[in-house]
Amino acid sequence: MYRTHTCGELRIENKGQQVTLAGWVQKARKLGGMTFIDLRDRYGITQLVVEADAPAALVEVATSLGREFVIQAKGEVVERQAKNPKMPTGDIEIKLEAITILNKSVTPPFTIEEESDGGEDLRAKYRYLDLRRGPLQRALALRHRVAHEVRNYLDANGFMEIETPYLIKSTPEGARDFVVPSRMNPGQFYALPQSPQTFKQLLMVAGYDRYFQIVRCFRDEDLRADRQPEFTQIDCEMSFVEQEDVLNMFEGMMRTIFKNVLGVDIPNPMPRMSWYDAMDNYGSDKPDVRFGMTIHELTEAAKGKGFSVLDDAAYIGAICVPGAAEYTRKQLDELTEWVKRPQVGAKGLIYIKVNADGSFKSSIDKFYSADDLAKLAAKAEAKPGDLMLVMSGANKRKVQTMLGVLRLEMGGRLGLRNPKEFAPLWIVDFPLLEWDDETQRFYAMHHPFTAPKPEHEAWFYSDKKEDLERVCANAYDFVLNGNELGGGSIRIHNADMQKRMFEVLGIGPEEAEYKFGFIINAFKFGAPPHGGLAFGFDRVCALMGGQDTIRDYIAFPKNNQGRDVMIDSPSEIDQAQLDELQIDLRRKTQTPEQ
Ligand code: ASP
Repeated sequence: MYRTHTCGELRIENKGQQVTLAGWVQKARKLGGMTFIDLRDRYGITQLVVEADAPAALVEVATSLGREFVIQAKGEVVERQAKNPKMPTGDIEIKLEAITILNKSVTPPFTIEEESDGGEDLRAKYRYLDLRRGPLQRALALRHRVAHEVRNYLDANGFMEIETPYLIKSTPEGARDFVVPSRMNPGQFYALPQSPQTFKQLLMVAGYDRYFQIVRCFRDEDLRADRQPEFTQIDCEMSFVEQEDVLNMFEGMMRTIFKNVLGVDIPNPMPRMSWYDAMDNYGSDKPDVRFGMTIHELTEAAKGKGFSVLDDAAYIGAICVPGAAEYTRKQLDELTEWVKRPQVGAKGLIYIKVNADGSFKSSIDKFYSADDLAKLAAKAEAKPGDLMLVMSGANKRKVQTMLGVLRLEMGGRLGLRNPKEFAPLWIVDFPLLEWDDETQRFYAMHHPFTAPKPEHEAWFYSDKKEDLERVCANAYDFVLNGNELGGGSIRIHNADMQKRMFEVLGIGPEEAEYKFGFIINAFKFGAPPHGGLAFGFDRVCALMGGQDTIRDYIAFPKNNQGRDVMIDSPSEIDQAQLDELQIDLRRKTQTPEQ
């Protein structure tokens, strides 16, 4: 037997027991003739001690241990002189009688402790070493727990976990597909699924009325802001349901996970907000509602004072930052520069200080009297001590979005975005379609299988652009702390309506037949009404862990160039493989010497 206990298990109650542990040497240090060893495995760390008067052979082995050696250690559990209340095993240590070196290790490239001295790139290259560290162990353990709770909840509610293929044909979720050449069918390609969308709908046609899958999805996107080219979804679909049924089922799932994994109660029922309200009040379709500071429209109130920037604007809005009337000139200048960054994209920022003594100071004092400013402050519900930040422009949604970004920044600066606080909500009533001026066509805001709200069906069949623009989708997003954690919709289940959707999206009958003939056809064979959603599993875990990046919740993630630097992928393939696939590369990649 290699071990009697793990390195996280022993407590003062075990005092006097003979035990054998196995694990990695995190650290070995000599102190007054004694050798102390921190032995680590994924359960914790136990301190081992070799006394000064131990047999010489034992002292010699103990002294020869290097970091990350794998050892087996035998001895007696004794009470520690100097207890460490921070460690679960901190009351005891093992007085060693024997050490066997199971394997040596070369010196690791960085320290493998709670806090590592290794940079991100180095740790990514040696991910298997980074994974030995406590923070990553805890992240993966949380991920495992969440997956387990999801399966339990869905199983208890009659869902079946069914796998769908990875080598498929494109599913439109708005990103590019990864493609895989087929050797057996030269010149033809599979696509990796962006989601199992069409398959889960076909499972509904097949009568598997409650499906789920914790499934890998692939999207070849530009990897801005914490995205991974392959990521995991909790993908679900149900038949004979309306929006209400889906929302109830899955807010129940989220409540169960939060309760069972974190011991946290999240609201029951969960708040709901229409997409229009989210945009108008928070400038975002994924509002962080842990704090207020909502947007107030000033379009009418602020015009007519001869200040052309505002007079010519189609929309004017403001947020009120509590307590920030004290901001200095320097701080205001910094903020103005901040909103001009490409990530925000504003041309400038107007401020109005609502001073505690009732006076005002603004960047538009030249055009606005104290009375005018008082009116604007009243309209924006500003309180004494608030700093009003005003933005304007020709496009209402763009201005609101910029104000939304500024709101998040100010909320962060004021410490209002506590990662331990959870404020989930559903966003509902999205527009079904988005018009794109550049390509002069509509795009599906969610995806082309999403049904219009039943009460908007007449507009959906109308030829007028204004009618189509106001159709709401029977769709919903699950939002937590400013992140979209999941989303889905009630689907179109009728072949004619699906054809109409493709027509509205400018997908001609031939293209629709070529790309989606199989699903239109399936809908002719008794497709039940159905709907579902998918959660971004990696992000659910990261947020539950109080982190804002998903990378540590994935065992082997890619970096932000989409590379796995550990296995050095993507990489070139050799000519023989290309020949077999009948692929000619247009441009030969240059080798470094050239
Ligand atoms: N397939 C959708 C997505 O990946 C989710 C859904 O509609 O169920 O976003």
